[in-house]
Amino acid sequence: MISVKNLEKTFHTLRGDLHVLKGINQEIQKGEKVVIVGPSGSGKSTFLRCLNLLEMPTGGEVWFEGTQINAPGCDVDQLRRKMGMVFQHFNLFPHLSVLKNITLAPVTLKIKTQKEADDKAMQLLKRIGLEDKANAYPSQLSGGQQQRIAIVRALAMEPDVMLFDEPTSALDPEMVGEVLQVMKELAHEGMTMVVVTHEMNFAREVATRVLFMDEGQVLEEAKPDEFFTHPKNPRLQDFLSKVL
Ligand code: ADP
Ligand code: MG
Repeated sequence: MISVKNLEKTFHTLRGDLHVLKGINQEIQKGEKVVIVGPSGSGKSTFLRCLNLLEMPTGGEVWFEGTQINAPGCDVDQLRRKMGMVFQHFNLFPHLSVLKNITLAPVTLKIKTQKEADDKAMQLLKRIGLEDKANAYPSQLSGGQQQRIAIVRALAMEPDVMLFDEPTSALDPEMVGEVLQVMKELAHEGMTMVVVTHEMNFAREVATRVLFMDEGQVLEEAKPDEFFTHPKNPRLQDFLSKVL
């Protein structure tokens, strides 16, 4: 589904060039749940953002469903429809109701009529037990509720893959579980997922593969059992000793 070849990203800043991704190679199959862990600043977010071209790679190739998406002339809007993304900060539109937040993109992009989008949104809200919040505004909801709605908003586009960038890092601890639960259900339904997280139990339970990123490279990747019980790279061993 996703193929990344020698992916490079350099940011040109006033203080000089910052080489953030240093030749990443990855193949992500349909239905996989890839969890990415690693220290802050190692390039995890930049990697995710290169997958849906929120950042333009400065080298290498990103392929999605048979199309090289960083080639000139590629239809980025078409691509983003198929890739849902959920961020650390929920990024709901504060001036729109929950229902409008969820239906805005499919209706504006003429993928669904308002009625179809409303029906789909209500169905999704029911699934996460928040159908009574359809007419509420984001500020009236808890962080956990907002993040679950951000997930549902991405799902309303019927994406083929969901990218999550530390979706629980900004939440109060008691709200982490409800968001992870929605993600687990999505995983069990067969969604292809790429998840950056510090939730190691989630990685253990849900991942088909765990990647360790450090300084712009994938230093180790393995099935969760192997990854956590027999880490090989000393930097991963050190990282795990701090987070577990
Ligand atoms: P992580 O998500 O693993 O914490 P990031 O991908 O956010 O790491 O960042 C990797 C490095 O790239 C950091 O040093 C960060 O400061 C830098 N960086 C990220 N985005 C930008 C940007 N838009 N401009 C300049 N530097 C950036
Ligand atoms: Mg990040």
